[in-house]
Amino acid sequence: MDAPRDIGLYIHIPFCKERCRFCAFYLEVARTERIDAFQRAFLQEINYYQRQGIIGNRPLRSLYFGGGTPTALPATQLTSLLQHIRTAWPTDESVEITVEAHPSTVSASDIGILADAGFNRISFGAESMDEKDFGPIGRPGRVADTEVAVEAARTAGFTNINLDLMYGLPGQSLSSWQETLQSLLLLAPTHVSCYALTVEEGTKFARDVARNLVSTPDETLQVEMESAAETLLQTAGLARYEISNYAKPGFASRHNLLYWTDGDYLGLGPSAQSYVNGVRFGNVADLTAYGSLLAEHRPPLEEYTSLSLTEQQRDALVFGLRLMKGVPRRRLSPDMPQHQRLAALDRQGLIEWDEEHVRLTTLGRRYADMVAQELY
Ligand code: SF4
Repeated sequence: MDAPRDIGLYIHIPFCKERCRFCAFYLEVARTERIDAFQRAFLQEINYYQRQGIIGNRPLRSLYFGGGTPTALPATQLTSLLQHIRTAWPTDESVEITVEAHPSTVSASDIGILADAGFNRISFGAESMDEKDFGPIGRPGRVADTEVAVEAARTAGFTNINLDLMYGLPGQSLSSWQETLQSLLLLAPTHVSCYALTVEEGTKFARDVARNLVSTPDETLQVEMESAAETLLQTAGLARYEISNYAKPGFASRHNLLYWTDGDYLGLGPSAQSYVNGVRFGNVADLTAYGSLLAEHRPPLEEYTSLSLTEQQRDALVFGLRLMKGVPRRRLSPDMPQHQRLAALDRQGLIEWDEEHVRLTTLGRRYADMVAQELY
């Protein structure tokens, strides 16, 4: 019999102090009464899934508080949510508990409270280390806030610190991006995520682009920036292990690895997505509707798809290809309909094989979304 799949929790905290111009995540500007409404509904959601026994006796390998900005909630409220989760479900001895934080809105004392409560990984949205980059994307705060927040995290005892960066920002050049990477490395993060700026429909940034107030990201420049990031970060000992993610040895994000290694994850909070026991389901992206459904003891879902075994194998392949090491060949069953398409992608130079794995080539990583579509 197969071993049960690893499982983790994703907790979507749908609040920020304000909305950045480029951001399309589901969130609201933080207000006390809405945070309280969220907390009430969230506890009902924990109770609902506890009654359903969806996790069984599998210890949680990771808990990930994302958003939004989890630290838009008072630190004591976050620690209370964590306590409820740990009372509801067993956690692995070495469970990784991540909290995302905005460097400009989290205090050293909040960071200390989170560390004392058991959060052991913190992820800051640095975005850039050049303040000129902040204005066009509406990212509040100052670069110095990131430096102060990282220092505070280290003082509080966090040894696993991620910094998020974005590249291809309006006005950003290859050399200013390289300087951002070098400044970031001085902060000695254990993990770095680099995301190319994209224009998301419905954002203020998309409207700015439509009015020619800012230019669209230059894709050729973004490719050069991606390559510069790989060179600089790998030289500094942060191995690229996924298209957008780099880590010191032993610090790859356990939560994200669940996505890419065919693990299970239960998403809690409005708009959170789940994949458990071969079923994909997604919560309604509306806090009011989320609260109303849970108050009626109903699951707060707007999507629910049960995957066949073949579809589960397809998804394991598509997500696993995001990893630099690729997907073990032994995971590809001989009757998967994707074999012909893999052969075509191979001929196009987008994937490659060795004895153990199939993986994306450098070209394939650039067109990873297209490869994924081909395999669906
Ligand atoms: S802080 Fe993060 S989640 Fe909040 S609006 Fe900005 S990008 Fe979006």
